[in-house]
Amino acid sequence: MARKGYGSLIGLDATARFVKLRETEAVLAAPCHATMPTDIASLLFALTVSMLTMAIALPAVMGKVNAAARRAQLGIFLQATGWVLLLLSGLVEAGSWTDRSLSTLSMAGIAGGLALNATAFDLWCGRKGHARAPTIIAIVLTLGYGIGFSSYAFRVGWANGLLALQMALVAMTLWRAPLVPVGRWRWLLVVALLAQMVVTAWRGVLGTFFTEQFPAFLTPHPVNIAFALVANATAVLSLTGILLAHRDEAARALERLATVDGLTGVLNRRAWLVQSNVELENSVRYDQPLAVLMLDLDHFKQINDSRGHEAGDRALQFFARALQAAVRIGDIVGRYGGEEFVVLLNYANHSAAKTFDQRMRAYLAEATVRELGHELSYSAGIAIRRSDDDTLEAMLRRADVALYSAKVEGRSRTFDAQDLQLLHAETAE
Ligand code: GH3
Ligand code: MG
Ligand code: MG
Repeated sequence: MARKGYGSLIGLDATARFVKLRETEAVLAAPCHATMPTDIASLLFALTVSMLTMAIALPAVMGKVNAAARRAQLGIFLQATGWVLLLLSGLVEAGSWTDRSLSTLSMAGIAGGLALNATAFDLWCGRKGHARAPTIIAIVLTLGYGIGFSSYAFRVGWANGLLALQMALVAMTLWRAPLVPVGRWRWLLVVALLAQMVVTAWRGVLGTFFTEQFPAFLTPHPVNIAFALVANATAVLSLTGILLAHRDEAARALERLATVDGLTGVLNRRAWLVQSNVELENSVRYDQPLAVLMLDLDHFKQINDSRGHEAGDRALQFFARALQAAVRIGDIVGRYGGEEFVVLLNYANHSAAKTFDQRMRAYLAEATVRELGHELSYSAGIAIRRSDDDTLEAMLRRADVALYSAKVEGRSRTFDAQDLQLLHAETAE
């Protein structure tokens, strides 16, 4: 039996198969060259739709946000508006006043939006969020564009050149070492901005010096196609970058909330215990003394009752600041709860702990009335690490007993747990 060819198995002879193949090639090839990559209008329309979607979706998914995220959202909204206006300008009579107004406003939107985004990136990197240079460029760009609109070569060069400069400046700000820990989103934005900068600058050069190759906004020149494609890709990268930056910041805020007392800015009890235990272990390992102080404000309830809760809050903040100013680097201040604070003093023996207490009392005597408008005193108990298996809990208990004695004895004083013990031993004898 003759072997059947593969073509006959699927019901085609060799010639028919060849013809089919050519047809398929033609179908695949034709629309590619004829429309897809050269259709700048569709690419820019898709970009505008993406930007508008982002402008609406970002506030919806990000919920309640801080200043940086709000600026990023507004920046995207301005850029989206800019693109809508630019497309609209293509529908009116070319060169008319409507065209001039729509196009100029669109430049304000695009460049202003980028400047606003730059301020958001600045804030996310722990800086002030001024972005002065990008903002000035946005203003100069818009004014110059409006004035020189009647010359196509000028306005294309002016707008694209200044936009490219703006992108380079924003990329440079992101490149600089941030002042807070920042994730990899920074590099995502740098890449996006640099890619956009290259095609934008190139487009400006073409429009100004080779106008015959790039005579209109929608000319299907390869650089213009690259511009439209890069702009689409950049929009996706920017969205991802902004969301990641926002997530980073939310994570940092959560971490702060979990360790720092919201009112006074010192460590909360849990974080104080965690950090102090590390110091206690070190003090045992290196055989160094270590002190713990427990401090409680005197008659604090009266301050609240007579001057109001806000005056009470201010007093707590002032006291926490004073403690932080009085300790040395490496010592740990915490709010144990209510109007009770704890301080861990590294390398501190009895006399060092008492010196700290005297420093604190001297400062309060000098500054309290000036800062708060009323007196503020405290009682405290000191406990020094006794042996290698002493624990933080045991030290805090001893400091608390000493503090209680200080209260009983008339307040505004500090007792050392060891002195009390010696006293008890003497009275017992
Ligand atoms: P003593 O000298 O015996 O320590 O008296 P005291 O009034 O300081 O102590 P008491 O325990 O009777 O009162 C503590 C007060 O601290 C009661 C509470 O309302 C107030 N307090 C606790 N936390 C805060 C706070 O965050 N802000 C303000 N304003 N008051 C607080
Ligand atoms: Mg008190
Ligand atoms: Mg108390």
